[in-house]
Amino acid sequence: MGKDDRTDGPATDADVPAWVAGLGLPGLADIHVHFLPQPVMDKVWAYFDAHGWSEGGDWTIHYRLPEDERLAVVRHLGLRAVPALTYAHKPGMAAWLNEWCADFARRVPDAVPCGTFFPEPEAAHYVPEALERGVRLFKTHVTVGDFDPTDPLLDPAWAAVQEAGVPVVLHAGSGPHPGRHTGPAPVAALLRRFPRLVLVIAHLGMPEHHEFADLAEQYAGVHLDTTMAGTDYVQARSPLPPDYLPRLRHLQDKVVLGADFPNIPYPYAHQLQALARWDLGDDWLRDVLWHNGARLMRLPQTRPEPAPAPAPDPAPGPDPAEGGR
Ligand SMILES: [Zn+2]
Repeated sequence: MGKDDRTDGPATDADVPAWVAGLGLPGLADIHVHFLPQPVMDKVWAYFDAHGWSEGGDWTIHYRLPEDERLAVVRHLGLRAVPALTYAHKPGMAAWLNEWCADFARRVPDAVPCGTFFPEPEAAHYVPEALERGVRLFKTHVTVGDFDPTDPLLDPAWAAVQEAGVPVVLHAGSGPHPGRHTGPAPVAALLRRFPRLVLVIAHLGMPEHHEFADLAEQYAGVHLDTTMAGTDYVQARSPLPPDYLPRLRHLQDKVVLGADFPNIPYPYAHQLQALARWDLGDDWLRDVLWHNGARLMRLPQTRPEPAPAPAPDPAPGPDPAEGGR
């Protein structure tokens, strides 16, 4: 496969595995995938049917399939792990979603154990419990949840995830629709109080791309996921701002593949086409499609292990157990 083929991206979903293998990757590490209790998923689909981006009918869910078929699709695409991002829109819902996620992780061997939280007193308990259970990824949604990320009821949750270094996918940008607490200012205020948080700002922070890129440059733990970015669908409605792609090039270790499967109005391959045609280089693609997400989700084989070096010098070196990667 030549460079020109690569910058076109895979033509169809069926072409994705060969295209990914052509980059020398073992698969995709997509950090923004939704699996939900089916009644909740049905409501989400009904919402997109009725409201779309700006009107009913302009957002046709491409993968409206039973759960087992959706799992088969992501495995065929080459996702090496399957996050199940859930989020609550009212109090009393997150603990139930977390139980559902725990069950999903038990019955789906390649699941990434996920969780969510909402500003409510119980968050002080169910977030540490989820971490103890081995949850490796959280999601929360400022628009849908209609909460301020700095709500004091969330302090114990932020403190616990910061301490654990577990990433939180945060929908905080004002796109496609602004909320009372969306935008970079509340996230900046949150980071002043919890500067070591590992955050993954969904949709590159659309439409406040530059402001969220500022936060990613300023804070070691702030990442950006590519969800829907650069696709024809989004470019026609909320295009990337000028002078932005060079910033993404510099943020190579902070940009993470996300696609919003299954709730997208186009085939998955189109997300990869969108990233490929930015033409930021194969090395950038390798980090974004695999290494960064694999590191954040703690997947095995983040990088190929180097062959063990011969050790002719018997002198004691540093204890490798101390070094840790
Ligand atoms: Zn999403």
